[in-house]
Amino acid sequence: MAGARGTVLGPPVSGPPELFAWKYSRLFSIENLSPEQAPRGRMGIPRVLNLYENYPFWAALLASLGFSVKLSPRSSKTLSERGMDSIPSESICYPAKLAHGHLVSLVEGSGNPVFYPCIPRERRFVEGSDNRFNCPVVTSYPEVLLNNIDALRAGRLPYLNPFLPIDSRARLARRIIQEFSAWDVLSHEALAAVDAAFAAQEEYRRELRERGEAALSWVEGSGGHGIALAGRPYHADPEVHHGIPSLITGLGMAVLSEDSICHLARVERPLRVVDQWAYHSRLYAAASFVARRDDLDLVQLVSFGCGLDAVTADQVEEILDRSGKSYTAVKIDEHANLGAARIRMRSLAAAIADRRAAGRRALPCARFPLARFSPRRCGGTTPYSRPRCRPSTSASSRRP
Ligand code: SF4
Repeated sequence: MAGARGTVLGPPVSGPPELFAWKYSRLFSIENLSPEQAPRGRMGIPRVLNLYENYPFWAALLASLGFSVKLSPRSSKTLSERGMDSIPSESICYPAKLAHGHLVSLVEGSGNPVFYPCIPRERRFVEGSDNRFNCPVVTSYPEVLLNNIDALRAGRLPYLNPFLPIDSRARLARRIIQEFSAWDVLSHEALAAVDAAFAAQEEYRRELRERGEAALSWVEGSGGHGIALAGRPYHADPEVHHGIPSLITGLGMAVLSEDSICHLARVERPLRVVDQWAYHSRLYAAASFVARRDDLDLVQLVSFGCGLDAVTADQVEEILDRSGKSYTAVKIDEHANLGAARIRMRSLAAAIADRRAAGRRALPCARFPLARFSPRRCGGTTPYSRPRCRPSTSASSRRP
């Protein structure tokens, strides 16, 4: 079964799926109005932090309002250095540091307004979670940039960084009318734009879930193994993840993301933490799903300087530990030396190969012996989830 040491599958039949690359290209290939087609002109958006989650939403909203979106360039070391002077704290995480370079690239040499809203709360991703806050850095970084980038502080160009309720259509429409008053946005335009935004985001999520389920089918069909590479939306930025997804596919394993499988999970509650962070609730759900499968393991990407992960990592480890699974965290920052990560991934692949060779299985959880999904929870809308949408009650079907 196991191939060469450190390779779980040997040469795959066709390349293992890699969802991080898919997410990145799907997110930023949203259709945009050309400047000539846009009656209200151009609007800059930085490719940073929760924009790696919500870009389809804001791009559709702005297009519906008649703006042509100018996205900041892909992240790179050079781009990061352009914003270095304005970073107020060396100890902040790398995804936040990168935001400075993106904003500087948008404001330098352009009089275009920039839109980068503060979003305190996301929509609910996981049923039963206590709340859905963004981390304080994600929520308020538009304010930090306003106070630290000279061109923004001096008001040299319009900078729209309002606090917006992305979780309520009616309130969001009202706030759009207020914040875009300089462009005389009417009530029916705001409502239509919000509808377009919700539809675009839901379409992206649906495709992402389908990709996750297709990757699971690949794992099952090939008899191989998958890694749920879990983190935050901005870990999909190649400048942030430093190529770790391809390192994993190079070992013959599929790469799934936590947001592509969290809809299939049922979290054993209560958790030891207050489950109040939107992205982290997906982590717990993905860990719960992985814990009940022999053909999946989880690797958590953790950014240096991330205060929240000091707490979440312990909770994820505990969920996996209940099923006898090991927890792997890879800490990343701006340095791209992957030597330690490569060793860690090879060790994990070797441990998985040994576990499979020895026929060791994931242990059942105390309260949920098998993965049990209900059509209401998983949506029951995709080819993968449909046959699994039934309660598993038979004692004989339980693992020993
Ligand atoms: S969750 Fe962590 S990595 Fe993400 S922005 Fe907040 S502090 Fe940075």
